[in-house]
Amino acid sequence: MSASPAAGRPAPRTYRNFIGGKWVDAESDKTVANLNPADTRDVLGQVPFSSAEQARRAVAAAQAAFPAWRDTPAPRRGAMLFKAMALLDAEKEELARLLTREEGKTIKESLGEIQRAINILEYTGGEGRRLGGDTVPSELPRNFAYTVRHPLGVVATVTPWNFPVAIPVWKIAPALVCGNTVVFKPATLTPETASALVSIFERAGLPAGVLNLVLGSGGTVGNAIVDHPDVRAVSFTGSNEVGAEIYGRGAQRMIRVQCEMGGKNPVVVMADADLDLAVESTALGAFGSTGQRCTATSRVVVEEALADRFVEALVARARQVRVGNGAEAGVDMGPAVDKSQFETDLRYIDIGRKEGAELLCGGRRLVDGALASGYFVEPTVFDRVTTAHQIAQDEIFGPVISVIRVNGYEEAIEAANNVKFGLAASIFTSDARNAYRFVDDIDVGIVHINNGTPGGEAQLPFGGSKATGVGPREQGRTAIEFYSEIKTVYVDYTGRQGGGKIPSWR
Ligand code: NDP
Repeated sequence: MSASPAAGRPAPRTYRNFIGGKWVDAESDKTVANLNPADTRDVLGQVPFSSAEQARRAVAAAQAAFPAWRDTPAPRRGAMLFKAMALLDAEKEELARLLTREEGKTIKESLGEIQRAINILEYTGGEGRRLGGDTVPSELPRNFAYTVRHPLGVVATVTPWNFPVAIPVWKIAPALVCGNTVVFKPATLTPETASALVSIFERAGLPAGVLNLVLGSGGTVGNAIVDHPDVRAVSFTGSNEVGAEIYGRGAQRMIRVQCEMGGKNPVVVMADADLDLAVESTALGAFGSTGQRCTATSRVVVEEALADRFVEALVARARQVRVGNGAEAGVDMGPAVDKSQFETDLRYIDIGRKEGAELLCGGRRLVDGALASGYFVEPTVFDRVTTAHQIAQDEIFGPVISVIRVNGYEEAIEAANNVKFGLAASIFTSDARNAYRFVDDIDVGIVHINNGTPGGEAQLPFGGSKATGVGPREQGRTAIEFYSEIKTVYVDYTGRQGGGKIPSWR
């Protein structure tokens, strides 16, 4: 029996909210323990359930800070993002250890996520010097017209646990550079990384009230923020159920709502694909981050002519994945994030078996030695799955991949598109014609050719179609569409009434 991980650690702290530039107690007697999913004996802290009243106070603080932040020149706002970037870079090793301990992904994956956040801050900080509009010719003499971008006011960001650093950054950074103030409601499963991130923005010099953090349940805190009359926009990433609820609430008040939700991302492997490349990319996409990425590969649509060889190689690769505590060297895949996600993984594996898919490897909980104290599931491969199977339709969010066998490109596209989601998709082929047809035919927001489904770069839009996403894409240039309002300005310098008359030639 290994020693309790509590030995030698400071007593778990109760997390606090950050409101109006101060860390404040959550005024709640109710808390829930924040557990390390790789070893549930390791308690990181206690998460408070803040009241709706405290959430409203955070909105009031953001509203009070808005006029001064709006009037801060955009390049100066961008400069604060560069400061946050430098701090994040300096502290990334420590933050990666925290992230792994709290969410379970491996240290390498945590460092990768933090690097993504650094890249986003670098890109978005530069937007402070690019936040221009257009100068447009007027149809009148001695008149001109232009557009400027204005912030919206207080915006809310509601985020999930699976990328608790990168996702908040890709919402908060563009919101701030556009001149909005923010109320940030992170997932209850990841308060530690959320607090560390807010502390970085605080130390980067953000004025009091510009960024506020409220911990607590989605039902109480989330709803109080989304329903608050001073909140002008909500950017949400998470499940479809919660996204639909938030979208509906936002629609009642006619505010902007952006939702990025689930995925069921396919890799299409044509018979002319580079087999090794397709297998390696599929395995990394399926089992990386324990399958808990919105862009995780959860279906492989393979041409029958290559299917036996592909499946054999994929199973061999899945068996090589070293599962364990992500903080330990040599581990490739960590645990499910919590008991509920762990049970969901096992439930879907059971559903897959019962509906007649062929379980080729994995499918069990791992309990050897120290693994018994965590939520570990084996990398799992199902073969001979059809589009009618539930495991080919629902987002499982675990290390479970379904192989769907098809004959020819047309069948492949039909199978790949046969889900309600539309986030990411890949094709592996050496035929340029099929590659470009795929870009036209696949109904998703992100397409990869000869590369896996996960991943993205800070300067490119990120998001999905169909049930995956509503609202402008996040990241890249499109991010500022959501967080700013266009104002159209007409300037008449004729000095005469009527200078703006429609010319007679019309
Ligand atoms: P949830 O939808 O359960 O939660 C997301 C956030 O919403 C959490 O902060 C949660 O708080 C909050 N919330 C819950 N109920 C409400 C409510 N009524 N009003 C306001 N906020 C609420 O998602 P998960 O955290 O489980 O994340 C996993 C999901 O996120 C997957 O479906 C995944 O595909 C998706 N995702 C999508 C991405 C994309 O870009 N398309 C990227 C990453 C993930 P609390 O934690 O307190 O419940």
